Amino acid sequence: MYNEILKKVTEYQATLVAVSKTKPNAVIMPIYDLGQRHFGENRVQELVDKYESLPKDIHWHMIGSLQKNKVKYIAPFIHLIHSVDSPELFETIQKEATKANRTIDVLLQVHIAREETKQGFEAREIELFLQNLTSAQSSHVHIVGLMGMATFTNDTAVVTEEFRSLKSTFDNLKGSYFQDAPRFEHISMGMSGDYEIALEEGSTMVRVGSAIFGNR
Ligand SMILES: *Cc1c(COP(=O)(O)O)cnc(C)c1O
Repeated sequence: MYNEILKKVTEYQATLVAVSKTKPNAVIMPIYDLGQRHFGENRVQELVDKYESLPKDIHWHMIGSLQKNKVKYIAPFIHLIHSVDSPELFETIQKEATKANRTIDVLLQVHIAREETKQGFEAREIELFLQNLTSAQSSHVHIVGLMGMATFTNDTAVVTEEFRSLKSTFDNLKGSYFQDAPRFEHISMGMSGDYEIALEEGSTMVRVGSAIFGNR
């Protein structure tokens, strides 16, 4: 399954993030040995344990909701945080990145699903946030794009529409706030059930777990 998914993702020149949450190192290593270097986790403790025990050339992605008091544990090594969903979390990342003497790449998570529960900024909240963000407040955080999760449904029309709305939010923000920021280039969307639709709608990064590793 991994090779088919990688082939598809590569056709779209997108990045495959293999979501290894709950999976032990013995299951992760065979995928690593195939050349996979981007892995995603959604819990800080598990992420830190895996960072410490797996090869150091892995790029670790934090994809789950992140508590402010746990940012410090991942700040020294995290490759990309997909799930920045509040100005307060952003501020904490800035603080911990500064302490760790690095610049951390992040995506702003946008609420695109019908479900109320899914985290993320509303599109208009992001505008307000960006309008008020000073360069001093973001000296150690690079916003490199957006992330979104579609409604969990078999209705492909709904999923397509939600991904399309994320792409359009991305294009609007790019035009208004990131004209001179070539690194604002990523749209992280698509999981096992919907990554093909996501790629078709402009995803640059898919987060695929169960289709690679089996059910959790
Ligand atoms: C678990 C998870 C995924 C991967 O889900 P699969 O359906 O197993 O591919 C992607 N994104 C987020 C935010 C997740 O929590």
